Amino acid sequence: MRWSDTFIPTLKEAPAEAEIVSHQLLLRAGLVRKLAGGLYTFLPAGIRVLRKIEQIVREEMDRAGALEILMPAVQPPEIWRASGRYEQAAGVLFKVSDSKGREWLLGPTHEEVVTTMAANEINSYRQLPLNFYQIQTKFRDEIRPRFGLMRAREFIMKDAYSFDATDEDALISYQKMYDAYVRIFDRCGVQSFPVDADAGVMGGNHSHEFMVPAQTGESEVAYTEDGSYSANLEKAASQGPQSQTPNVCTGNLEEFETPGVKTIEDLENEPFNVSASSQIKTLVYIVEDEPVIALVRGDDDANESKLATAFGTAIFRPAEYEEIQKAMGALPGSLGGVGIEKMKVYADSQLEGAAGMVTGANKDGYHLRNVNVSRDLPHVNFKDLRIVREGELSIEGQTIKIRRAIEVGHVFKLGTKYCDALEASFLDEKGKKNAPVMGCYGLGITRTLQAIIEYSHDDNGIIWPVSVAPWQVCITALDVEPGGPVMKAALEIYAELTETGYDVILDDRELRPGFKFKDSELVGFPVRLGIGTKSLEKGNVEFTLRSSNQRESVPLDQAVAKVKSALADV
Ligand code: ATP
Ligand code: MG
Repeated sequence: MRWSDTFIPTLKEAPAEAEIVSHQLLLRAGLVRKLAGGLYTFLPAGIRVLRKIEQIVREEMDRAGALEILMPAVQPPEIWRASGRYEQAAGVLFKVSDSKGREWLLGPTHEEVVTTMAANEINSYRQLPLNFYQIQTKFRDEIRPRFGLMRAREFIMKDAYSFDATDEDALISYQKMYDAYVRIFDRCGVQSFPVDADAGVMGGNHSHEFMVPAQTGESEVAYTEDGSYSANLEKAASQGPQSQTPNVCTGNLEEFETPGVKTIEDLENEPFNVSASSQIKTLVYIVEDEPVIALVRGDDDANESKLATAFGTAIFRPAEYEEIQKAMGALPGSLGGVGIEKMKVYADSQLEGAAGMVTGANKDGYHLRNVNVSRDLPHVNFKDLRIVREGELSIEGQTIKIRRAIEVGHVFKLGTKYCDALEASFLDEKGKKNAPVMGCYGLGITRTLQAIIEYSHDDNGIIWPVSVAPWQVCITALDVEPGGPVMKAALEIYAELTETGYDVILDDRELRPGFKFKDSELVGFPVRLGIGTKSLEKGNVEFTLRSSNQRESVPLDQAVAKVKSALADV
């Protein structure tokens, strides 16, 4: 491809809307353009990278025995009602209506569609296992689309769905996908690591997310340096906070006046001097229109995913002031679980056995001291609700660290939830009707593209791994006169490398050398061959490896061999 024949609109400055470097580089390197929030057009160089990632994913899915299909993006709402997700996913569903006013959904994911197909097609154990995948556009009305392709409203996902006869077989399918993901990210030239993921309210017991380490990632991962523990913070558990929870009670439960106290810190201060670890924090949520209480230690925070698991639903929200006043008879600052009998009260497991604690009295301006949890809060359900903090010990006794990462893929053993709901079943060897055990496996193709940039760039631009580079070699001709010696040499090398199977771009634009070099670094071709009149007179061309910025003069007749060996190495 000649640069002058394609369309790579590079930008000197990043548009102000791009907050993170990979988003800036996507735009600056002319890979994508924004249409509206979370909606992007892929330009010629961008689509080349996208297709290469898709191809790697396709090869690894095929190798793992998954079968490619393509499902409609437009889905009937009935199947979402049947699975119970019409309400649950309401927040992200794009709804459209046809000319007769009938409602349709733009698929954010395809469990319902694939299971409907399975219900019609699968009837015998002899057909199993089956694993179907597709590479397709997904639609999600994200509350906050941002960071370019990272959280888009329309994006490309590879999604796969396995159907097995037994739980054990389902685990084999799961492992195959897990292994395929390891290979995919490896081949895409990006470091990834699997972490234990929250199986959420779906109750699956096996779930891993694949993460790319990045400061700007939206996920937080708790891990230990020896590698014995790695989990999404949503799910992470530890031995508990570094300071002990008081468990000795020296007096009777008593109310005391706390005028103006609104926060945990207010009580820590003079004249009260109650340490945060001796306080119980009381949080009120609305779950299915009912107020529900969650208690955590004063210096802890509640983890939303753990709350969802405890509540049995992801649909809940913090209660409003009026709702709190009505339910508790007091406002935040003076709330507590003692004496609450009409509402469900969940308490973090840390509070089990706690004694000598302080909490609100459900009377504005008053608290209770000497709270003995087993005596004064006998009605609570203990669950792991707290967010793990850096420095705590993992269950195995290693120090936990926390880092940010980008979730690029998710593998999930689902069980029979969807097959039950959508009546997919098969007859087993004994003629008994069973629901297939499902797994689902999502991989964000467009998010991965941007994660590679976030992971692999420098001050000058993108550093594409060879496997996904839009073009692996850029020949920068510094004198573009047609028929001149530079263009002649450039075209010869171009022909030879292209014939060998490399993707080569020939920068034949009539621009200053410095400008062309900058552009090639910005777009991030792994290898560049600079050909200029002066060095060519000495029989040389200039070879540059993007990853190390290592430059050297190479004799013209060795240039092709040099490129080949460099591309084989990186
Ligand atoms: P997140 O927690 O980031 O919202 P998710 O749990 O909703 O992701 P899944 O439903 O597991 O994501 O989707 C599978 C993959 O699709 C994710 O691992 C991610 O790579 C990609 N993905 C999900 N949402 C988006 C989005 N809004 N934009 C781009 N890619 C996305
Ligand atoms: Mg996920």
